Amino acid sequence: MKVLFNSEILEKSEVTIDMEDRGYQFGDGVYEVVNVYNGIAFTLVEHVDRLYRSAEEIRLNIPIEREEVKQLIVRLINENSVKNGSIYLQITRGVAPRKHQYDSKIKPLLIAYPLPFSDVSDVQQQGVKAITAEDLRWLRCDIKSLNLLYNIMIKQEAHEQGAYEAILLRDGQVTEGSSSNIFIVKDDTIYTHPANNYILNGITRIKLLQLFHQKEWKIKEQPVSKQFLLNADEVFLTSTTNEVVPITMIDEVKINDGKPGSFTRKIQQAFTELVKEEIRG
Ligand code: PLP
Repeated sequence: MKVLFNSEILEKSEVTIDMEDRGYQFGDGVYEVVNVYNGIAFTLVEHVDRLYRSAEEIRLNIPIEREEVKQLIVRLINENSVKNGSIYLQITRGVAPRKHQYDSKIKPLLIAYPLPFSDVSDVQQQGVKAITAEDLRWLRCDIKSLNLLYNIMIKQEAHEQGAYEAILLRDGQVTEGSSSNIFIVKDDTIYTHPANNYILNGITRIKLLQLFHQKEWKIKEQPVSKQFLLNADEVFLTSTTNEVVPITMIDEVKINDGKPGSFTRKIQQAFTELVKEEIRG
């Protein structure tokens, strides 16, 4: 496997990570996951822009120009012959003796490599179970931080309960999933949490909202309660690697008749069309 290591593309065996990298010791860094369809990175511009935004928010200066990062990702995809899959991309603040405060002169480390292809066609087709859980994360969920401790704790909890995702509730209102955005359909209106510091503004979320506006579907970017969620007509989650996945049962309560709904199907189809159009260029 070829790995992007700052501006170089190396064999994985040539890459070593210093134990004093602040990403390793503090989770001091930010990341992205970009999907690749037919050898083409989908919404690469949006992902690279979000990487720079997250980095700016934690005052990490990425020493490579945006344009160059995009070109390097394209090279990485080509050199690994990735056809369908995804690219993991992270930047950490760099290596320094362990202390919380940092010297702004330390050199950040950019790493990217392909993730193994994960087939989500079954879950997209059949729908999944979710649990609800209290959102105990920090208040800057808009930053795509490497610190994912609560996300992984609660995803593991969901997994051990036979569920695919944990839907998080802050003060009784749905924020997002542990690694996805959540959409709720009720009476032909699509609800999702507004993009503020309580959620990560997913690229899939952004693309879908643009699509809903174009189609003049009714959208409300507002939080909803757990009761509203459980009484929804349809619920679905979105993320780069999952695209659009129906949620058919939450906390052992069936959503509607417990089958993927027709609106979600329409949205899945529309998303597939959108991907086709974008990768055609
Ligand atoms: N929210 C969280 C907490 C996530 O981790 C993710 C993706 O990993 C998303 C939302 C969806 O974001 P995107 O559509 O950009 O993948």
